Amino acid sequence: MPASYARELEVAQLAVQRAAILTKRVFHEKAKGTVSKDDKSPVTIGDFGAQALVIAALKANFPDDEIVAEEEASQLRQDAALRRTIWDLVRTTQLSDPAAEAALGGPIRDEDAMLTFIDFGNSKGGAQGRIWAIDPIDGTKGFLRGGQYAVCLALLVDGEVKVGVLGCPNLPVDDAAPLTGGMESGQTDEGRGSIFSAVLGQGANSRPLTAGALAPAKSISMRAIADITAATFCESVEAGHSSHGDQAKIASILGITNPSVRMDSQAKYASIARGAGDIYLRLPVSATYTEKIWDHAAGDLIVREAGGAVTDIYGKRLDFTIGRTLSGNKGVVAAPVAAHPRVLEAVTEALAKA
Ligand code: AMP
Ligand code: MG
Repeated sequence: MPASYARELEVAQLAVQRAAILTKRVFHEKAKGTVSKDDKSPVTIGDFGAQALVIAALKANFPDDEIVAEEEASQLRQDAALRRTIWDLVRTTQLSDPAAEAALGGPIRDEDAMLTFIDFGNSKGGAQGRIWAIDPIDGTKGFLRGGQYAVCLALLVDGEVKVGVLGCPNLPVDDAAPLTGGMESGQTDEGRGSIFSAVLGQGANSRPLTAGALAPAKSISMRAIADITAATFCESVEAGHSSHGDQAKIASILGITNPSVRMDSQAKYASIARGAGDIYLRLPVSATYTEKIWDHAAGDLIVREAGGAVTDIYGKRLDFTIGRTLSGNKGVVAAPVAAHPRVLEAVTEALAKA
């Protein structure tokens, strides 16, 4: 009998839900504790705190599993004030449902344990065994500008994504809500916050994000697009992450006139999986950038389980067996199964001209 991954799915969703309580607290503060990483990308106290909470939950339940996570704790070890700020957030963040909190192993013991948990995310990844991929705040730039971001968690077994969970605090709860890029100014949390999940072979679901136990789930699926010219694209806000120019050429080849909706993070995968948009393209800007597994693992499975196909710009499935990066792939093309070949053709044509 194939493994059901029921426990992994439950723990992963509760872990994402607890981490999202922390990220929301930081999101609503004016100063988000931004720190600059060596690679110049931004990281906030929310990233570190969320990573600690997710890894603590995984270690309590699956102590032998490996973890590939985006952040590491060396900066925190050197900076007592920063460490203390994060610890204050972490030790005061719990699920309001005692059984749910207990299922995650309860609170982290102390500051040192928090740092140790953060650094458990240093696995090299690869083709063997059980490996969790975590992006504690995907779309940090969106998080900082008040837009979309996602808490991302996926389980790989022998290099294949088996479980994927995306917590999107700023996406609408309603799967049928119109697609917009971000939070409009002055908007509150009312009606916002969804968790998306999938297990390989079992379909994809969404449920409202809560502060306690998991809310009931609803099945989600991609929109069937009878007429591709009526499709809607999702793309990155950051032109440095995906080429807006190439995207416009592809839209024109396909005869798509709807403006593409720009949003940060894997909220794009979640949005097309629930049928709020149709196609997500990630069109390489840099010849040397390699995509990170934590930026794609959960979204790849959720879209495929919702009736989509996900490949790179050459039509190759995303390959999570190589390590921490998708070094065997370039870019992303995600679309409903029936539309994917036509979309890929247009991508090939546009990029050949580039
Ligand atoms: P998005 O919000 O979809 O634009 O993607 C955010 C992710 O883009 C971050 O988590 C980064 O890991 C990743 N990223 C950083 N630099 C690049 C780049 N040059 N090309 C593509 N993705 C990048
Ligand atoms: Mg990311």
